[in-house]
Amino acid sequence: MFYSFVYQNIAFPLHEIIRGRKTHLYLRRLEESQWKPLWEIQSRQWRALQSLLHYSYQRVPFYRQLFDSLAITPDRIRCPEDFQQLPILTKEIIRENRSRLVSPHYRGKNIVKSTSGSTGAPFEFEHSIDSWCWRTAAAMRGYSWAGAFEGVRHVYFWRPPLKPLGRVAEAKQTLHRFFQRQKFIDCFDLTREGFARCIEEINRFRPVSIIGFAMPLYALSKFILDTGAAVHRPASIISAAERLYPQQRETIERALGAPVFNTYGSREFMLIAAECERHEGLHLSAENLYVEVIKDGRPAGPGEVGDIVITDLHNYGMPFIRYPVGDLALATAHQCSCGRGLPLIADVVGRTLELIATPQGRLLPGQFFTGMMMHLSDIKEFQVIQESLHELVIKLVPGNGSISEWTLKKIRNQVEQAFGQQVRLDLQIVSDIPRSKAGKFLITQSKVTAALSLSAFAEQRKER
Ligand SMILES: [Zn+2]
Repeated sequence: MFYSFVYQNIAFPLHEIIRGRKTHLYLRRLEESQWKPLWEIQSRQWRALQSLLHYSYQRVPFYRQLFDSLAITPDRIRCPEDFQQLPILTKEIIRENRSRLVSPHYRGKNIVKSTSGSTGAPFEFEHSIDSWCWRTAAAMRGYSWAGAFEGVRHVYFWRPPLKPLGRVAEAKQTLHRFFQRQKFIDCFDLTREGFARCIEEINRFRPVSIIGFAMPLYALSKFILDTGAAVHRPASIISAAERLYPQQRETIERALGAPVFNTYGSREFMLIAAECERHEGLHLSAENLYVEVIKDGRPAGPGEVGDIVITDLHNYGMPFIRYPVGDLALATAHQCSCGRGLPLIADVVGRTLELIATPQGRLLPGQFFTGMMMHLSDIKEFQVIQESLHELVIKLVPGNGSISEWTLKKIRNQVEQAFGQQVRLDLQIVSDIPRSKAGKFLITQSKVTAALSLSAFAEQRKER
């Protein structure tokens, strides 16, 4: 308690001041604004949106041209209905116009990141340092609703890094985690030994909060219930990075004896929405993000599912205006009984990357495949379908008419390294990949790890 008090009130603000960042100030602002009534939050949000539009028009070449081609200026955008007339900023547009989307004033000063695209091809994007402060503050506030305050002990039941870090970066990370009292446990090892090790670590570290992927948390919980293993009870569990099904929530709560808080975020924006202690939906990070749920080109009504389209209000370094994340949300007009004015979405119902299981009982994140395809220029789109534990189909759409033997061999080698030789790999070259009405498809899809068939997965492993 004392440590987290000192961390939150002295060490963290001091650290931010020394680094010339304002995260601690934004956090204080967000803690206050969450209790404002909805109309006030929305009117502040609208002012922030207008500032962003004006800035983008005046300073960012891509938007100047876009507004000119539409023969409008930001002054003409006076209400949400006007704003909805602006075109969607797709990942393809970002890929083709990246340098024109970066504000010249921020060039070379932004943080550069990469993410997977909705068509299975990763792309790079940038955000300003100030935007980093805002998004970090929004994440800190959202996690605090689950009691996961900075400086209290957290266990991250998380995926191992996709690429090994350098020695200096690793030392820095270890130090950082030590001061933040975070412990990372590999959640992709679904063997009995993996679970036993995980429980041992949780019992030793005694976290206040456990943060993890929904599916591995569920698998661990099943293991705890099946074996009757004694596990330290945290105060809360935060489900992140994956869709959380009601059955999973119920099982996790029963096994770990603590409430589950669902959250939704993305690499492009960090925390987009999170549940508070009332669990009546996910509160949007509305001071940092302007979030629309769009169905057939119009806002989805309560009870309707639509595409999540986001405008990042503080990323002046590379403005994202009306960007579809690639996920679907269930819209609601409900106001949470907690008293926070922040608007809600009822649930996030679609994600484009599913975890894939290996015959060795490990899980691979969808990013394993997007990372692999990133450097293969003769592949335009791809889709991975795990039909069974021993059968993997990868559909490939050629970039320039054909795919080289070298590329196919490279894919085969990498899949074999990760899955071993017991997996039959079927590489199919196709002209296109069928999409949903919203223009999306699951980039990685597993019929093995699909939440409800998890027990079948365990059975299959036992049979071997
Ligand atoms: Zn609430």
